[in-house]
Amino acid sequence: MPSPAGEPRVEPYRIKVVEPIRLLSREEREAAIHRAHFNLFNLTSDDIFIDLLTDSGTSAMSDRQWAAMMIGDETYAGSRNFRHFEETARRITGFPYILPTHQGRAAENILFSLLGGEGKVIPNNMHFDTTQEHVLRNHSKPVNLAIREAYDPALDHPFKGNMDLERLEHLLAEQGHHVPLVMATITNNTGGGQPVSLENLRGISRIAHAHGVPFYLDMCRWAENAYFIQQREPGMRGRSIAEIGREIFALADGATMSAKKDGLVNIGGLLATRDRELFDRMRELLIVYEGFPTYGGLARRDLEAMAVGLEEAMETDYLEHRTGQVAWLWSQLHDAGIPLMSPPGGHGVYIDARSFLPHLAHEGLPGQTLAIEIYREGGVRTVEIGGVMFGNDSSGETALELVRLAIPRRVYTMSHLAHVARTVQAVWERRKSVRGFRMTEASEHLRHFTAKFGPLDH
Ligand SMILES: *Cc1c(COP(=O)(O)O)cnc(C)c1O
Repeated sequence: MPSPAGEPRVEPYRIKVVEPIRLLSREEREAAIHRAHFNLFNLTSDDIFIDLLTDSGTSAMSDRQWAAMMIGDETYAGSRNFRHFEETARRITGFPYILPTHQGRAAENILFSLLGGEGKVIPNNMHFDTTQEHVLRNHSKPVNLAIREAYDPALDHPFKGNMDLERLEHLLAEQGHHVPLVMATITNNTGGGQPVSLENLRGISRIAHAHGVPFYLDMCRWAENAYFIQQREPGMRGRSIAEIGREIFALADGATMSAKKDGLVNIGGLLATRDRELFDRMRELLIVYEGFPTYGGLARRDLEAMAVGLEEAMETDYLEHRTGQVAWLWSQLHDAGIPLMSPPGGHGVYIDARSFLPHLAHEGLPGQTLAIEIYREGGVRTVEIGGVMFGNDSSGETALELVRLAIPRRVYTMSHLAHVARTVQAVWERRKSVRGFRMTEASEHLRHFTAKFGPLDH
């Protein structure tokens, strides 16, 4: 499937079912964004031509997955679909105890309800927004320990998702007794979908365990991360994604996963551990929040589709095409001079909004403004990852002001991505006349979902 450098990627699939989309007229788009109070989360799908809001739960399922849906055995307890799901997740991860959840945050809820608490400190390379929220809700303190390079968008580094091991060592030496677990997010979504190297994961595991602290993975995009390890880490070319995965998971004591990413399903997640005693307590909470342990908030047909999706996400043709699509869009924008997070990550292209719109002071919300302008220009929905999303956090890190163009899995063709590239380039051409926005209404928690915006008065 390889395409020559710079050429569009050839899709390793053909289209069997189609869903019409339509680009609204400029006037209709203006009306829609006003109605949405300039918050792109308030747009409806009919307003949107190409939706790059998220890669979460937006994948196209394969014919094998749809076939799997038809063999759902909707038994409350002891469904054979659960057994297939459990057996698959065990084989891929090596974790002995697996619980299904309806999505990633449900697994986080259970994990942090049990391990969080007053005065606890939770290190991560970079907390994802829901992870951070669950840490905070359990009165613990999230600490981001990504390497310094992670905060320099233009800097090229093969494993920008890495954790700063010196800072981790220091934190555990000083406050180890307050740290119930160390977490690493693979890939680092908040920091540009950047991978963590196997070497770095080995270091995190060694340091955490030397201090008697368990190490958990946020494994949402573990297959993309493993693909980058295979491609970029010395000595890894000859190893399969499955082999690399087994080594990653062997370093950890458990994991949370949103299967809406590298599970290739529209809904689903999991929670895994090696700790039998903790597992029993997890299972109790699962029953309270999600349902019986053999369905965990999902229809049994969803478990079957997830079992198939977890396998498909490890296929080399698929991973090469997927990361290739991201890299192609990245190079289209990069060649036009647009400031981007470098190098391209696994699931999206991240624009450095502060460099794109340097004339907007922080109050001008450059990230939110750029996302609004990209929608106005070409009906493309993106998302701000910056001051609006993380402004209220207690870790005090709002260093990055990004707009993410997340690529749904197996959904868009290269010509869709060419439209996206033209749209962003058109905003780039008129960037000097772009005016800023301000927040007119905001809630206390996860405010980016509900905030309202209005143009800054000039
Ligand atoms: C999506 C995501 C989550 C949360 O998963 P949901 O399925 O949306 O609840 C957690 N961590 C990371 C890194 C994610 O990308």
